[in-house]
Amino acid sequence: MKLKRREFLKLAGATGAGLALSQLGFNVRSIEAASKECRIHGASEYTSICNFCSCGCGMICHVKDGKLINLEGDPDHIINEGALCSKGAVMYEVPNSDQRVKTPLYRAPGSDRWEEISWETAIEKIAQKIKETRDENWIAEETVDGQTYEVHRTDAIGFVGGAQNNNEECYLFTKMARALGVTFLEHQARV
Ligand code: SF4
Repeated sequence: MKLKRREFLKLAGATGAGLALSQLGFNVRSIEAASKECRIHGASEYTSICNFCSCGCGMICHVKDGKLINLEGDPDHIINEGALCSKGAVMYEVPNSDQRVKTPLYRAPGSDRWEEISWETAIEKIAQKIKETRDENWIAEETVDGQTYEVHRTDAIGFVGGAQNNNEECYLFTKMARALGVTFLEHQARV
């Protein structure tokens, strides 16, 4: 029986894997002893995508007690086949950093400090800003070579997508941007 590395790790880390492993001809006692020492023993496994660049390399993440304890390239991922560049390899530091910003921050006009606000408040503020900016900078018509055209757009707002947005999210972002009259629409992969 052939096992991929990832399948083997899953099997070795799983509770009650002794029977399956013994059937495969492994020394179960040695494996049990080693798995107790293994840092991913008892951890939940998830797949994720690197957040740094537009390559979108796949990762395997092991989480224990709500904390990311191990991260490695996903050998089954079509893009990176288990490899990670130096940036991706240290993405481990991002979720575990005590400097990680977990809530929206707001600095009021004239203030010298940031304050935490809720997501609801942040979304409300962003929506208000978009509305104000759009209303103040709306271009209904444009005249070119003496001919006037209806254009219905604003050049005061830009939208930038990121490597972690999937096709469906990008489709919805694009729809929203076009509906708002935004023409400066870009993606991180092309910047
Ligand atoms: S691992 Fe490197 S190449 Fe892959 S997505 Fe992350 S930053 Fe880009």
